[in-house]
Amino acid sequence: MNDCIFCKIIRGEIPSQKFYEDEDMIIIADIAPQAPKHYLMIPKEHYPDIIAMTDEQAVTLGRCLKKVSTLVDRLGLEDGFRLVSNKGAVAGQTVGHLHVHILGGATLNTTMA
Ligand code: AMP
Ligand code: ZN
Repeated sequence: MNDCIFCKIIRGEIPSQKFYEDEDMIIIADIAPQAPKHYLMIPKEHYPDIIAMTDEQAVTLGRCLKKVSTLVDRLGLEDGFRLVSNKGAVAGQTVGHLHVHILGGATLNTTMA
């Protein structure tokens, strides 16, 4: 998608602080962190959200999540972390390219909203 900010980051057209990349996804620092450690795991394939996701994309997403579990040391998340994926404006989604927030580095607020 030409004007998608995350596609531009994936193509290297917008700079980012990249922590990991493979054929399926990138992990970058969120530009407006909401926790001491705040990353975005972004599948390289563009689709808007989990509702739009195909079965094949779901398999890829599962592979990405499994990979995240092996990167906790590199990401400084040994004590634990939270994964969040917003769908729609009511949930706070602002970028229409599926992504998963990875939050940690502190004891996080346990309220869900
Ligand atoms: P969401 O609100 O769930 O759609 O998440 C989008 C996230 O992307 C927000 O937490 C933003 O801070 C983050 N974001 C937007 N632009 C950039 C960027 N250029 N580099 C890194 N993170 C970004
Ligand atoms: Zn995109």
